[in-house]
Formats: sequence, C-alpha cells, structure tokens
Amino acid sequence: MSDKNVEYSPGKNYEDISSVNKSSIIKFLRRSGVCSRSQISKAMGLTQASISKIIAQLIEENIVYETGYITGEKGRRSIGIALNTRCKKVLGVRISRRSFAIGLFDLAGQMYESVSGQFTAETTLHDVIGRIRGSLNNYLAQYPEIASIGVAVPGPFNQRTSEIILTTSMATSDWTNTNLRDELGDFPVPIAFSHDADAGALADWWFGSRVSELGTSLVHFLVGDGVGAGHVVDGELASWPNFSRELGHISINVDGPVCLCGNHGCLEMYCSTFAFMKMVEDGLADHPESSLARLINLTSRDVFAAAKADDPFAVDCVLRLGQYIGYGVVNIIYAYEPDIVIISNEMARGGKLLLERVREVVRERVPAVIYHKVSIQLEDDWLMNDPVLYGAAAVAVGHCMESPVMLLGNNAGH
Ligand SMILES: [Zn+2]
Repeated sequence: MSDKNVEYSPGKNYEDISSVNKSSIIKFLRRSGVCSRSQISKAMGLTQASISKIIAQLIEENIVYETGYITGEKGRRSIGIALNTRCKKVLGVRISRRSFAIGLFDLAGQMYESVSGQFTAETTLHDVIGRIRGSLNNYLAQYPEIASIGVAVPGPFNQRTSEIILTTSMATSDWTNTNLRDELGDFPVPIAFSHDADAGALADWWFGSRVSELGTSLVHFLVGDGVGAGHVVDGELASWPNFSRELGHISINVDGPVCLCGNHGCLEMYCSTFAFMKMVEDGLADHPESSLARLINLTSRDVFAAAKADDPFAVDCVLRLGQYIGYGVVNIIYAYEPDIVIISNEMARGGKLLLERVREVVRERVPAVIYHKVSIQLEDDWLMNDPVLYGAAAVAVGHCMESPVMLLGNNAGH
C-alpha cells in the first residue's frame, strides 16, 4: 500500500495536550463548583496521577485553589478543588440603541465598576467608538489582571465578520454594515463579539441563580429597545454560523405594518420599548383620568409603577404588552423547545402582572403537555440591572475558559 493515500491526523505537542486538559478541567470546575481530585479524574477520564500534576500546576498559577475537606462518595473525605473566580477580571461592553456601558467583572460575574454613556441623534459612530476605546484602555492600564473583553451588540449581527447588518431604532443612524472589530481596533487582550440576546442567555445560564434546577435548554427573551432571543444548551450557545436568530422579526401579524427589515407586523413592532410607549401615548388621549396623563417625558417605568398602583389604563397597557410578549414566547416554545424561557430587559420590569398575562396567553396557545414542561420566568433582579452588560462579561469569561493561557500571569488569590 502506498503511503500517498494514507491520511495522518496531525500530531499534538505536549504543551497543546496539556492546554486542552487544563481547559477541560477549568470548564468542569466552572460547571460543577467544588470537586475532589478523584471526581475530576473520573469525569475527565484521566489518571489520578495526571490530574494531580495538572491541579498542582493550576494551584501554582492561582487558577484553582484547595477549599479544605469535603465529603464525597461513600462518605469519604477528600480535599475540595474550586476555580478561583477572582484570579482574573474581564471587561464587558454593551452597545445598545441609545447608550453604551462598560463593566469590570470577575469570572463569576460579580461587577466591580462600570461606566456608561448615552447617544443622541447628533452622536456619530466615530464619537461612540472613541469613547468606548478610551474607557477600555483606561481600565486595561489600571487593572493588569484583565484577561479578555466581551462585546454585546444589537442584531442582526454577523458573528463571522463582526458586522452589524441592520439596526432598527438606533439613535445614531450610521451603524448599519459597521464592522465593529475593525472600528474598535486592537487591544493587548483578546476581544470577542456576540449578539445581545445570545450574551444575555450566557449570563442567565452562568450567573443566574436558579436555572440549573429548571433544565438544560434556556432561551433568553430580550424585550427592550430591540427584541431578540438567545439560546443556550447546557451552557453552550446554540448559535448559527453567520447571523444570529432574529426573533424580533418574526411576524405576529402578516397583514400588519411594514417593518424596516421588509417583513410585515414584526414582533418587535408590538412589544419593544418604543412600540409599548407609542401604544401608551396613543391610548392616553382617550384616558385623561389616568395618573399617567399628568406626567411629562413618560417612560415605561412610569407605566409599570402606575399599573402597580392599580391605575386601570396602565394595567390595561401592561396586559396588552403581556399578550404580545406571550405570542413571542409561544413562537420560542415551538421553535426552540426550551426548558426555560427568561423574559429580560426593560419590558420585564412589568413584573408579576405582566408575567401572569404572558403565562395565560401561552397556556391558551400551546398543548398542556408542552406548557407544563416549560418554566417561564422574569429575569433575576440583580441581572436586571443591565442583563446584556452581564452577558458581555459572560462572553468574555467563556473566551477565557476555552484558552487557559489567557488565565496565566498577574493572578490574584481567591
Ligand atoms: Zn422586522
């Protein structure tokens, strides 16, 4: 037999194998919390001797630490190993339609500092990029332990080329077809980009408080200035190779008004912040008795507060919003088959009244056997502070987990 036809798989150097093993152990500890060496060895399929050697290196590098004794299988006591989530920091960047924010986080999603800025119609793309670059460079100069940057942007977004395809309702108009990676330029640490809803899904999975008990397939339903959905299965993004999935542009009214995307009656035209406020303002003309009629510069939070205080017009507006969000959840359930749907961003502030209406609409529109398998929730209170910014941090942390070399050097103790 001639050697010409034989395909050899490329060999791997010891350093590469060691890096892959380290990455697997770090990811396993991120998911599992505190574990013994023997639990890690079993899960990884590596010998105890190999595990002990790699763990010793990771302890030396301050990436993991020993927690003290834990009780494992058959009541045996062994020393616990945990990921040092403070060994490195990451920067999360959220770019939205009307503002941006940058936060400094540890690997567990705790935020230490943040800065933010607003856009107006006069703000140019050049100004925004300049301000973001300036803040990132300030943080990088101040905190040498920063390992990576994650950026979350509104879609449609091309993951492969880092281009924003179209932005509806963006305060500045020159974002369409912008290549963000080129615009932002180079930094001394790696930078990763993600669609905002995908980033939110990662934050819910990795930083949220209760998701692991509810299942493995999670959809983050972003309902704010834009509308979108991100899908995570067992901690990994279920993303498409190019464009992110655009739930905001599925039609809930095929004869409805034309959207900027070309489709008619897009979901986003009914439940985004802009759509909701237009509905409220249009309706107010017929409801001068509402407490909202006395307010100037009305915001969605005013409407939610009035609904909580039992203003009948405000209650009606929130129930109608819940109905549209419910249509979105029905589509999510049929398209993604999730165990968990988390309604997030500005419209999730509608609270219990909104959530109950959403659940009611879904119960009416999907078979009971499917309805009872899905947990529909509002975003965690602490993530509601800025879910996409936390998501940007989750993207940056995920990037570090893939490549443990990013976790080396300048490490702080736990
Ligand atoms: Zn559309």
